[in-house]
Amino acid sequence: MTNEMPSTDAVSDAVPSEPAPMPVTRKIPFTKPTLTGKEAAYVNEVIESGKLTGGGRFLKDCEAWLQAQTGCPRVLLTTSCTHALEISALLSGVGPGDEVIMPSFTFVSTANAFALRGAVPVFIDNRADTLNIDETKIEAAITPRTKAIVPVHYAGISCDMDAIMAIAKAHKLMVVEDSAQGLCASYKGKALGTIGATGTFSFHETKNVVAGEGGALMINDPELVERAQNIREKGTNRRQFLLGQVDKYTWVDVGSAFLPSELMAAFLLGQLEGAETLTASRLRLWNRYHDAFADLEASEHLRRPIVPEDCVHNAHIYYVLLPSRAARDAALKALGEAGIGASFHFVPLESAPAGQKYSRTAGSLETTENTSGRLLRLPLYADMPDDDQDHVIERMRQLA
Ligand SMILES: *Cc1c(COP(=O)(O)O)cnc(C)c1O
Repeated sequence: MTNEMPSTDAVSDAVPSEPAPMPVTRKIPFTKPTLTGKEAAYVNEVIESGKLTGGGRFLKDCEAWLQAQTGCPRVLLTTSCTHALEISALLSGVGPGDEVIMPSFTFVSTANAFALRGAVPVFIDNRADTLNIDETKIEAAITPRTKAIVPVHYAGISCDMDAIMAIAKAHKLMVVEDSAQGLCASYKGKALGTIGATGTFSFHETKNVVAGEGGALMINDPELVERAQNIREKGTNRRQFLLGQVDKYTWVDVGSAFLPSELMAAFLLGQLEGAETLTASRLRLWNRYHDAFADLEASEHLRRPIVPEDCVHNAHIYYVLLPSRAARDAALKALGEAGIGASFHFVPLESAPAGQKYSRTAGSLETTENTSGRLLRLPLYADMPDDDQDHVIERMRQLA
């Protein structure tokens, strides 16, 4: 990058001699959305049609795309992943005092969706390898009040879903997959979000495929479809009315305004149609980091992400675990000073003020606390230039 100065003839005589060029510090953002080039045309189509409300052709096309890509029988586009989790919590039927088992190394919405219903999020520890919920600790946390399990697929790397589904079946618990980070990732050939009774995606600006804000609910249990549709339509059977199945629509259930506008759906379709290319670009960069840090792992300066053999991931996050929290914090500071947007990630929810009020823990969360304190995320976005990435790699080597 150069510091371009205006051409001399544009500068009046009154301007003193040009200042010496400032040293340019390269700024590398932590993340940024990558456009496919189709978004603007689709959004314009909606504007010109004058039909901005939800439920039009772009919503249907997004849902059809997601169904075809994942094999999920019914996908409902929603205003956010948070809202898809809230719909799941309503579908689970949990009420005050019921318990829902989940990891604490997650975004607040995983817990909040159930706390909103008066249920108690029960946090259990993570596995040290994938940083996902430790499936071997689930059974010990089950009580007569347990109603559901919410696995979170961290970084688009799957939880051990076979084990989790077997426990859920034996104890008659609902499984809601928080696959907010899991688009285009799979477990034993099944798309993330299609294994539990429901699953969720996020299209928040920071995810792999974005719409600013937005989400999707994947409904894998056909018995939940009609109720989920009513909940998304403010608790009315408006959808049946639009399909001509009833002659007027009315209030039939609890619900809220979870239907996204056609503007959001149009933008999202432009992204979804490029989702595979966006994912491939991210995977290439993810693998570049991974190869570059192999020797630092061998010399125990850091630990790289672990992807179990039966998982296909989507390069949502490239993180490393440093030897200690102090080393992580020092790296964050040094990278920040070098203009590199590195970041830590979830602070375990049991330590948050609302976590203390609305949730409880079952067993020790030692692994969660240890790994979250040592975790460092590096910049990664689909069109990140290789030389920016090389710069990050170089700085990481200097820290080792
Ligand atoms: C991003 C994220 C969410 C929330 O998604 P929104 O679309 O912003 O509501 C929930 N859970 C996890 C694990 C996430 O990463």
